[in-house]
Amino acid sequence: MKSPDLVFDGGHLALDFLNTEASPDGERDDLLSAPTGLLAWLEGAGLAATPDLALLMASPPEARVLLAHATRLRTAVAEMVQALVSGTPAPPLPLMEVNRILAERTAGLRLESDPTGYRLVSTSVSARSAGLLAPVAEAAARLLTDADPARVRRCDAPGCSLWFLDTSRNGRRRWCSMARCGNRAKVAAHYRRGRRLTRRRRSAPERRSPP
Ligand SMILES: [Zn+2]
Repeated sequence: MKSPDLVFDGGHLALDFLNTEASPDGERDDLLSAPTGLLAWLEGAGLAATPDLALLMASPPEARVLLAHATRLRTAVAEMVQALVSGTPAPPLPLMEVNRILAERTAGLRLESDPTGYRLVSTSVSARSAGLLAPVAEAAARLLTDADPARVRRCDAPGCSLWFLDTSRNGRRRWCSMARCGNRAKVAAHYRRGRRLTRRRRSAPERRSPP
């Protein structure tokens, strides 16, 4: 199973977390199929500092425990987001799961610098705990409490399951990203238009020149 690229264009951390599992072209890709994928995502999301990740990489059992927490959290968030958008009551078990991770919330902040500038990184008192996932659970909680459910949607492209929060002014965003599905849909529409035109020309009666 190949891992999907790290993409952070869902417009919300909780949805980016759900997008670690995707089905582009009907084939299931799961970034959380191995601890390395989760650690790469946490680093990409700015939720873990490199030293903390190195500690986890050095301890495969710890990393697997964290992965199990992450997978359970993602399932819970997915069920709650689905309930949110379909207007059904929050399922009790996923709610407990999100609260379980929220209870691990001990995160602080650390300002790091590199030659390109600064970045603010969440830190955990114990990097070897589910506390690393607390910012994700918090993001999910904020999405569920603050977001307009009508603006939490999935990409319109056939076979694409990625989530996004539509923050556009007119609320008409359709694609997970213009670069991926938007452009592909444009090309497909262009191709369909071209074929329709060709068919119409073929079926048009031939003009006869007057005798
Ligand atoms: Zn898409």
